[in-house]
Amino acid sequence: MKSHSRLASYGEALLGLAGAVLFWVLDAAIEKFAFGHEQTYSDLLFCPGTAEFRTRLLATGLIVVLVLVAAWLLRRKENTLASLQHGRFLLEEMAIELGHKNEKLKAEITRRKAIEERLATLADTDELTGIYNRRKFDELIALELRQEARYQRGLCLMMLDIDHFKAINDRHGHPVGDEVLKELAFLIEDIRRDADTFFRVGGEEFCLLTFASNGAHLETACEKIRKSVATHAFAEVAHLTISIGATQYQAGDSRETIFKRADAALYKAKQTGRDRVVIG
Ligand code: GH3
Ligand code: MG
Ligand code: MG
Repeated sequence: MKSHSRLASYGEALLGLAGAVLFWVLDAAIEKFAFGHEQTYSDLLFCPGTAEFRTRLLATGLIVVLVLVAAWLLRRKENTLASLQHGRFLLEEMAIELGHKNEKLKAEITRRKAIEERLATLADTDELTGIYNRRKFDELIALELRQEARYQRGLCLMMLDIDHFKAINDRHGHPVGDEVLKELAFLIEDIRRDADTFFRVGGEEFCLLTFASNGAHLETACEKIRKSVATHAFAEVAHLTISIGATQYQAGDSRETIFKRADAALYKAKQTGRDRVVIG
């Protein structure tokens, strides 16, 4: 790079010199042939008079200086362009690096979101059955009650309890009892309506939040679930039954009051023979 620029400087000096020599030759030729000077051309070229010599020397110097200044300006422009090019190159490299960092950051955010979602799901989910747990029930019923007070969509609460579940555990063992709980949860989760929400709120106790326009409709919905369970062939225990206590939302209901009515209805269903539905 350095030797290249030195060569360029020699070239400029030579160019200046060539320009000066050319001027010298042309000036002698103009003296001789345009103005018809009596001296020979070679005398005019090599031995000019003192005044002529000074003029030529001055012009020669001027030509050399002009060529050198022009070359210097040109080189400065080239250097500026080169440094701009270098700056652009650096900027491009920085943009690429930033792009990589941005991609990494996006991937990290997606990963964290997935973890957060998984943790949130775990906090709301019953470990054994995979349906919503008691914590989610408490949260959702509070929300549904607030909405019901405003929109009156016919909110109802069903409480479902397996009949004689203790006997199933005793006869077949706890692990079989667990399988029964899972199968029951899967069955009801499968037949419930899309708008319903199903929860495991205790050992063998479940709740279902549903909507019905009146008590008769609610009873029909409960019966549908009860019959589905009673007629289902469970893998390990063949048959089992559930009792259901259900109630409709009443103006001014809180979580405690609606829960208390459904619980009392369930108790009545148990007291009056199990495998039945009581609307409270
Ligand atoms: P009832 O018809 O009056 O409801 O009688 P029950 O035997 O179903 O009711 P009880 O409350 O006497 O017994 C409930 C049983 O449920 C006792 C408990 O061992 C069992 N249980 C609770 N949680 C689980 C569980 O996660 N897995 C299993 N296998 N059993 C459980
Ligand atoms: Mg029970
Ligand atoms: Mg129970």
